[in-house]
Amino acid sequence: MEMDYENRVVSTEYLPEDEGDNPLRPRTLNEYIGQTKVKENLSIYIDAAKIRGEALDHVLLYGPPGLGKTTLSQIIAAEMGVNIRITSGPALERPGDLAALLTNLDPGDVLFIDEIHRLSRTVEEILYPAMEDFAIDIINGKGQGAASIHLPLPRFTLIGATTRAGQLSAPLRDRFGVVLRLELYTPEELGLIVSRSAKILNIPCDRDGALEIASRARGTPRIANRLLKRVRDFAQVMSEGVITVDTARRALDRMEVDELGLDMVDRRMLEAMIRHYNGGPVGLDTVAAVIGEEAVTIEDVYEPYLMQLGFLSRTPRGRVVLPAAYEHLGIDYTGQLTL
Ligand code: ADP
Repeated sequence: MEMDYENRVVSTEYLPEDEGDNPLRPRTLNEYIGQTKVKENLSIYIDAAKIRGEALDHVLLYGPPGLGKTTLSQIIAAEMGVNIRITSGPALERPGDLAALLTNLDPGDVLFIDEIHRLSRTVEEILYPAMEDFAIDIINGKGQGAASIHLPLPRFTLIGATTRAGQLSAPLRDRFGVVLRLELYTPEELGLIVSRSAKILNIPCDRDGALEIASRARGTPRIANRLLKRVRDFAQVMSEGVITVDTARRALDRMEVDELGLDMVDRRMLEAMIRHYNGGPVGLDTVAAVIGEEAVTIEDVYEPYLMQLGFLSRTPRGRVVLPAAYEHLGIDYTGQLTL
């Protein structure tokens, strides 16, 4: 069967239907649910920078997609009372693209670079002196007539976001004064996020209905908000618009999102590893080939949640399906793991 990976309802990637999510974005640290440790640290750094009247130190945010890195960056800028410019690693093709952004910043402003691990080498090299000395050198012209111009920059804050901190070069990583890791959210935290979003969108949703959606949202606010909107459509037809636990269950079952948030793709991946490779260890590239998906997507998008569930483990010899996954899939665990 052909899988529509791009449009999985449980995809952590930004989908066209997520458009219009702006009113759902929390605007202050207080409104931002969960990530308690990250928030506590950040609020100290923000307060200290404000007391000193300085720009905030450069911040690196890392963790799986859809956990709120962009949202948090906007909050940081708002709390600092500065502007934010948003771009991404792949969008900055040439050094000039980055130079244009940097030279237009006001003192204290935030420059947010999403997917910062995908910056090209030449762009990254401009970033080093910009972060460290708040200046860049631009080569103007070509060949013999080329001249280097030294441009001082205002003190600014770079916020980099990445799904893979391990892929950043050491010189880039070392230039961030603050490094924060975002974790998958608990079902309780996601329940609060669903209730909050339901209120903003005027969707009647009771507490248990919100928790049911939350527990199938793979620890990810972006998915929780998406499921909420899809379940709303079912509720309109099934229960006079009110999302109850029963409506949520039936709607999500219909969407083939199971009670733990796994969909066809996850189940197919785990089943293939069990049936063809006896549960592993299976190399990542083999898993990728078996389900026809890119290895990086499996690592960034599928595996974090499966590992949190205790369904999968990464070992030096490959991926191993754990007994809890067999039980969930209703497959007898024969215990033939050769670890
Ligand atoms: P990322 O940049 O990590 O991919 P985003 O910042 O775009 O994620 O967040 C995805 C969606 O999830 C946003 O629309 C936002 O409304 C919601 N969201 C993220 N984190 C939170 C949170 N802590 N509390 C409430 N909503 C959140």
